[in-house]
Amino acid sequence: MSKPVSKEIILEGIPASPGVAHGTALVYLQNQLEVPNFDIAETAVESEMERLEQAIIETRAEITAVRNKVAESLGDGEAAIFDAHLMVLEDSALISEVASEVRNLQKNVEHCYNNVAQRYISFFSSMEDEYLKERVSDIRDVTRRLLHNLIGMQKVNLGDIPSDSIVISEDITPSDTADMDRSKLLGFATDVGGKTSHSVIMARSLRIPAVVGMHDATKHIKSGDQILLDGHDGIIVINPTQERLYKYGKLATERKKLDTIYASSIAEPSCTKDGVAIDLMANVEGAQDMEQALSMQLDGVGLFRTEGIFLRHHGYPSEEVQYDEYVAVAKASGSNPVIIRTLDVGGDKTIGDQRVKEDNSFMGFRAIRFCLENIGIFKTQLRAILRASANGNVKLMYPMISGVVELRRANEVLESVKRELREQGIAFDENIEVGAMVEVPSAAIVVDLIAEQADFLSIGTNDLIQYLMAVDRLNDRVAHLYDPAHPAVLRTIKAIIDGGNQAKIPVSICGEIAGEPMFAALLVGMGASSLSLTASSLPEVKYLIRQINMKAAQQLVVDVLESNSSAKTMDLLESFKNDSIGDLLK
Ligand code: PEP
Ligand code: MG
Repeated sequence: MSKPVSKEIILEGIPASPGVAHGTALVYLQNQLEVPNFDIAETAVESEMERLEQAIIETRAEITAVRNKVAESLGDGEAAIFDAHLMVLEDSALISEVASEVRNLQKNVEHCYNNVAQRYISFFSSMEDEYLKERVSDIRDVTRRLLHNLIGMQKVNLGDIPSDSIVISEDITPSDTADMDRSKLLGFATDVGGKTSHSVIMARSLRIPAVVGMHDATKHIKSGDQILLDGHDGIIVINPTQERLYKYGKLATERKKLDTIYASSIAEPSCTKDGVAIDLMANVEGAQDMEQALSMQLDGVGLFRTEGIFLRHHGYPSEEVQYDEYVAVAKASGSNPVIIRTLDVGGDKTIGDQRVKEDNSFMGFRAIRFCLENIGIFKTQLRAILRASANGNVKLMYPMISGVVELRRANEVLESVKRELREQGIAFDENIEVGAMVEVPSAAIVVDLIAEQADFLSIGTNDLIQYLMAVDRLNDRVAHLYDPAHPAVLRTIKAIIDGGNQAKIPVSICGEIAGEPMFAALLVGMGASSLSLTASSLPEVKYLIRQINMKAAQQLVVDVLESNSSAKTMDLLESFKNDSIGDLLK
């Protein structure tokens, strides 16, 4: 669809991360590389190879620049991956195969390069040797860069974007988000995706407004368009009128007023009006998030998603790299606990590892399943966590536990790592608490058995909802069915909390609903001992908790569990919130 330059156009999507951004669109086309395929004249073979040579020179300069930047900020060890990329780029066997293909097929060089690269990729993918298998992602990366240069397509580097950009993309992976320059990025929108994708979770914690599931925003918006992105209502306005900007300006003033009111309770104790203490803890992805968490005076870290470290290092960081990061978080947290979750690779967090890139990836080789099959990677992480436990109040938990056998197996590996450390005389907390995430329905059903083997439980509602409702959390087509207020979801959460309470172990909620004030009140009423949330959601949640009485929250639970529809439940939750805090804008 072509659009007149100045006409206002509204596009709708799914509100993902609140806030309003007004800036310049930058359309990021990472996934839309179409490799042209055409015949060439016999005489054009040489000029095609010259084009390849030129593209190799450009690609070499690009990779070297990234390599130097990474070496400067993270050290030579972390930059080594780019040396491997340079070796792939310069590989003489690959280049001469491309040359013969151009000569024999008389086809354009990008087509031939892509053909040869794909052959290498399938060859290495079929190898038994793990090291050689891992070369696949190097070849893919180099091929993508080189083809972009050959085709002459502008490739957006999310680490180097102009100021005041709003990135519009088909999809944004968590590693794209990790690469973004947050000082210049005002917001982002994607054609696909759901509210609890990890890119969105990261955006929310960074307070970057975002809208997802827009279907075809990349078709309607051009780089350079002036756009307004509203992450509260899930819309984008292209060429907003002065009138609209004025209206949004007024809304922003109201939101600021509310933010000031909520912020007034940050330093107050986290407890209900009738004195029941509820720990409010932070969800973090690494040491860089601790400043914000501490500024919100949270009661510790309830979920340290360690994948963040793996994503930032584009692979599997060494024990020392991990240890430094875990210790930094533990030290920043002081005497407050830090719950480190072991690697939850897979799903939408592939960290470039082809082994966990698969159809139906959320149901596949993910998290504890991956770790139990890759004991080396798992043990390295457990060693780093255990060593860090000598430096702070560290606990650990496993993601995606589906039953008691898996939990036992993970604990056996943990015990073997503890033994090794003892033999080597390396200090760690002998009484480290070990918890299980309950986010797979089978674990929820056998919560009594899980609770016998765990020191605490943490409910991962992001996954629990997707598995319970059979709704992929990334799929915008079924996003309307991803319903935290569904009676099945709320009954299950209640049953898990009851299971934990019966076993006398604490139950925390660490999925995104813990940070939604309306649900937070309900979860407290259900008996959750703590909520772990994105630090930016703390002020409103704490403000609300301080306005409610436990008795009233428990009655809300009774009413909600009697409700037979999520619409009715949402009404109950909304009235409860409004009755508790009143109209703050009056
Ligand atoms: C969850 O599933 O609710 C959770 C906290 O884990 P993640 O979002 O990282 O899958
Ligand atoms: Mg999860």
